[in-house]
Amino acid sequence: MDEFELLVDLHKGANRQGPGGEAETEKAIALAGIDRDMPLKIADIGCGTGASTLTLARLLKAKITAVDFLQDFIDILAARAKSEGVEDKITPLRASMEQLPFEYEEFDVIWSEGAIYNIGFEKGIADWKRYLKPGGLLIASEITWLTNSRPSELQDHWNNEYPEIDTASAKIKVLEERGYTPIGYFILPEYCWLDNYYEPIRKSFDSFLSRNGNSEKARAIVEAERHEIELYEKYKAYFSYGVYIAKKPNE
Ligand code: SAM
Repeated sequence: MDEFELLVDLHKGANRQGPGGEAETEKAIALAGIDRDMPLKIADIGCGTGASTLTLARLLKAKITAVDFLQDFIDILAARAKSEGVEDKITPLRASMEQLPFEYEEFDVIWSEGAIYNIGFEKGIADWKRYLKPGGLLIASEITWLTNSRPSELQDHWNNEYPEIDTASAKIKVLEERGYTPIGYFILPEYCWLDNYYEPIRKSFDSFLSRNGNSEKARAIVEAERHEIELYEKYKAYFSYGVYIAKKPNE
């Protein structure tokens, strides 16, 4: 397996592939003022193995198109939807978030947890706006600075990884500049990172290494994950995911 396949192998067994939580998905639904009894069309972009998709399917009267560019994740999501009895509400779709096969103004809601950074926040919100109906809602989580300044080690790390990281006020300004009306924002609490994401991954390191012959590449991946966890634990006061809720204005 190459490095990318190993990364998929490490993450595909997990409930989620990034920080988040069921309660936080539910909180975003409430903040957005989504009517649970309204039949909605939702796109969940960068859905992974479906943590948010399944929560949305459970809580809402919606048809959800769940998009990811990895077939492995899509297959697992489809199996999970079936075992939870919500497969009728979910259409799994393998596609790139950069070339979505959607129609103009097709969706009431665009949802994206821990994934828009792959296209870049500003490009993502700008490109995806065309798929939202007027009055439609965008709900996206995005890595965010929690303070106005931060230690240089952390700043340097993120400048390398994702230079678009910024404060909530800057992200909200980008939403406004791209023609959205911001209507809500909250930050993901620590347990969304530690209990819901990092701890299950950490527990899977041993089995991941043994099924991959303890290879040098597999060990390097575990090392990189450990480093990421340490960085979070050391600097969690300075960054988290922000959950942004914004409306496409009615024309
Ligand atoms: N939303 C999921 C969650 O919270 O568990 C997954 C988050 S994971 C950090 C990011 C996801 O984006 C992965 O499932 C990855 O395969 C997907 N992804 C990355 N680049 C993509 C692209 N260009 N098009 C579609 N999906 C992509």
